[in-house]
Amino acid sequence: MLFIKNAKIVLETGILWDGVLAVEGDRIAAVGKASEIEIPKDAEVLDAQGLYVGPGFVDIHVHGGGGHFFYAEPEEAAEHFLRHGETSILATLYYDLPKKEFAEAIERVKEARNRGGAAQAIAGFYMEGPYMNPKYGACAEKNKWRGTIRKEDFQEIVDRAGTLARVWAVAPEREGLEPFLSYAKEINPGVVFSVGHSEASPEQVRSLKFYGLRLQTHCMDATGRVEKWAGTRGCGPDEACFLDSDMYAEIICDSQGIHVNPDMIRLILKVKGMEKVILITDSFVSEEPGPKELEYIQDLVFDANGGLNGSRLTLDVACRNLMTHTNCGIAQAFMMAAGNPARVIGMEHEIGTIAVGKRANLVLVDDMFHVKKVLVGGKVWQQEQRKKNV
Ligand SMILES: [Zn+2]
Repeated sequence: MLFIKNAKIVLETGILWDGVLAVEGDRIAAVGKASEIEIPKDAEVLDAQGLYVGPGFVDIHVHGGGGHFFYAEPEEAAEHFLRHGETSILATLYYDLPKKEFAEAIERVKEARNRGGAAQAIAGFYMEGPYMNPKYGACAEKNKWRGTIRKEDFQEIVDRAGTLARVWAVAPEREGLEPFLSYAKEINPGVVFSVGHSEASPEQVRSLKFYGLRLQTHCMDATGRVEKWAGTRGCGPDEACFLDSDMYAEIICDSQGIHVNPDMIRLILKVKGMEKVILITDSFVSEEPGPKELEYIQDLVFDANGGLNGSRLTLDVACRNLMTHTNCGIAQAFMMAAGNPARVIGMEHEIGTIAVGKRANLVLVDDMFHVKKVLVGGKVWQQEQRKKNV
């Protein structure tokens, strides 16, 4: 048994100020006040020195970071995010991959997971594509999936990803989408569909609820701003998400509020409530310089045309940004960076919050979300572990 003492433990219901957390094997065995939990004399003890102990972050939408894409170098990418407390990750594959590369990427990530090491943090895939609206999003000219939706094109990637494909982002306005949705659901009945890179009307979004659509891919980014009439505002995926209390909204919370304006973040929180907002990094690997006026911002990533192409965020930093732009506290930031994302992908019984019986994926942070220690399955994560495994 490992005992973590002098901890401010971030629970779903609030903060346990003078807390002790016991870990047995890879599970959380007990949580309580210091006065309630007796630490045996010979027990292994980790002194948190007054840091916050929260659930490991769950990043459901992340393409890569630290110079490594998940599709190409899954271990190295996972290692980068693990250091920042992301103990559960959905490796995100983008629609710029043609069919063959898509299939190869799935196999590469699966093999890495089987080898263990840092890649054990990869809890599955977030498929950002292939069927999105080519009008919205970066790398549009590389979209190999513009044409007719045919089973012979999508079957192989759906089969290979299997139940690991936890999310498929789609543009509901794409013609002939239903056979794809039905098939993806047949292969993984627990799949979540997300509306993304889309200008679908709320009605078109609602029509996919039957299949299990309950997420919006980066709310306010790459969504249509269709006019209803000259000078009047139409409604698109953002409004569809606002209207539907079952839907979760992903937010890329960068330092300067470029992806989502801080006023808009506050509005989203007001409309959706904090239980339905999910922080994502949408971290991407690109060295394109981007426009001069945004050059000073460290956490943005651009494509060759100067368009936004995700971020360079990690979720610890996204939590700090959330607390900069809104009046959210630490417990709420953890909810949006761990609890909510675990729930939307149906993994809330295993990860996302601190509770007895759950996996001991933990992160020790100070009050500015600087990560001091990370525990994966009850073990302190150290870089040496990676070296052993790679
Ligand atoms: Zn993305």
